[in-house]
Amino acid sequence: MDLDLSPQDRVFRDEVQAFLTETVPPTMRRAQDLTTGFIVEPDISIHFHRALARKGWSVPNWPVEYGGPGWTPVQRYIFEIECGRAGAAPYNGAGTQFVGPVIMRFGTQQQKDTYLPRIRSGEDHWAQGYSEPGSGSDLASLKTKAESNGDHYIVNGQKIWTTMAHRSNRIFALVRTSNEGKRQEGITFLLIDLDLPGITIRPIIGNGGDHEFNEVFFDNARVPKVGRVGEENKGWEVAKYLLEFERGGTVMAGRVRAQFAKLAHLIATRCLGDSDVTARLAEIGTDLDAMEMIDLSVLSAHQAGGNPGPISSLLKLRWSELRQAVTELAVEAAGEDALRWVTERPLYETLQLPPDEEEALALMPRYLNGRAFTIMGGTTEIQTNILAKSLLNL
Ligand SMILES: Cc1cc2nc3c(=O)[nH]c(=O)nc-3n(C[C@H](O)[C@H](O)[C@H](O)COP(=O)(O)OP(=O)(O)OC[C@H]3O[C@@H](n4cnc5c(N)ncnc54)[C@H](O)[C@@H]3O)c2cc1C
Repeated sequence: MDLDLSPQDRVFRDEVQAFLTETVPPTMRRAQDLTTGFIVEPDISIHFHRALARKGWSVPNWPVEYGGPGWTPVQRYIFEIECGRAGAAPYNGAGTQFVGPVIMRFGTQQQKDTYLPRIRSGEDHWAQGYSEPGSGSDLASLKTKAESNGDHYIVNGQKIWTTMAHRSNRIFALVRTSNEGKRQEGITFLLIDLDLPGITIRPIIGNGGDHEFNEVFFDNARVPKVGRVGEENKGWEVAKYLLEFERGGTVMAGRVRAQFAKLAHLIATRCLGDSDVTARLAEIGTDLDAMEMIDLSVLSAHQAGGNPGPISSLLKLRWSELRQAVTELAVEAAGEDALRWVTERPLYETLQLPPDEEEALALMPRYLNGRAFTIMGGTTEIQTNILAKSLLNL
C-alpha cells in the first residue's frame, strides 16, 4: 500500500491544518487532555461540531447526498489524524457514526428529513439504548417491552450503561415487541425523544470517578410509531448493522496516535533511561502502525459504499487493547505522581496547575476508565467469536 501523500492530498492536509488552527481553541485542547472519561463534554465539543457543519465537514463518513463532504479514504484519514493531533473533540458519535448511517439505510423519508439534518448540525444529541441488566453480550435476551396501542407503543423496562443519556435529547433503543419464535425475531428498533413523560435517567459513576453512564427507565412511555426504524419485529437486522459502525465506524488511529504522542513525551521527560519502558513504548508504536492498516481497510469498505463487516471486530479488538496499553504504561511511567487523586470532574474545570502536573492527575482515572475499552461496543471475547466464525466460515 502506497501511503505517500499525493500533491492534492498535501494541499488538502494544509487546508485541514489551517481550519483546525482556527477552530480548535486552547480551551478545547486542554479539555481533551484532561478528560478522564471516554467523551469530552458536549458543551465543549459542540462548538467544534458547529464549525465543522459550517464548513460542510461535520459528517465525514456520510455520502454526499446526505451532506457528507465526498472525501476519498485518504482524505478522511488525513482529517482524522489531524483532528487527533490538534486535540479536536468529536461530538456525539452515537449520532453521526451509529444512528445516522442506520437512518440512511433503513429509515423512512420522513425520518431522514427529520433527523439527518439535526445530526449534521449538532442540534440533536443521541444516546444508545441497547444494553439492559442481564442483556449485554446476549443482547437478544432484552426485555424492555413495547406494546402496540394505536399510533403509539407503550414502552416499559430499563436500559443500562447508556453513555451520555443525561446530555442527550434522543435515544435509539431496542425493544421487545413479540415473544413468539426466535428471540431475535421479536425485537424492534425505535427512535425515542428522551423528554417524553415516563422516561427517567439516573446516573452511574464509573470507577474513574466520571459520570458518563446512566440507567434509563421507561414507565408507560408513549412512543409514536413514526419513530420505528424498519418493520416491527425486524429490528435485529437494523441493530446488527449499527454495531458494525459502532465497532468500525470511525478512524481510530488519530485518537490513539495523539495519546501515544503524549505517552512518548511523558516517558521522554520522566524515564528516558529505563530500557524496559522505552521497549514497551516502541512495541506499542509498532502495533499502532499495524492497527492503522486495519483502519485503512475499514475506510476503503466505507468508501466503496459498504458496511465494514467482520473486520470492524478486528479493529475494535486492536484499538481497545492498544488504548489500554497506552494508559497502563502512562501510569507506570508517572510512578507515584499518578496516585494523587482529585475527586471533582471535569478536571479542566477544577485544576489550575502547570500542564504536566495537571495531566499526571488525569492518568490514573483514565487508566481505570480504560479498563472498559475491552467491554464497550461488544467485549473482546465477543469480537473474537465473530472473527473466529467469519474466518472459519462457521
Ligand atoms: C464504556 C462503556 C460504554 C457503554 N455504553 C453503552 C451505551 O451507550 N449503550 C448501551 O446500550 N450499552 C453500552 N455499554 C454496554 C456494553 O455494550 C456492554 O457492557 C457489553 O455489551 C457487555 O455486556 P455486559 O456488561 O452485560 O457483560 P456480559 O455480557 O454479562 O459479559 C460478562 C463477561 O462474559 C463474557 N461473555 C459473555 N458472553 C460470552 C460468549 N458468548 N463467549 C465468550 N465470552 C462471553 C464477556 O466477554 C464478559 O467478559 C457500554 C459499556 C461500556 C463499558
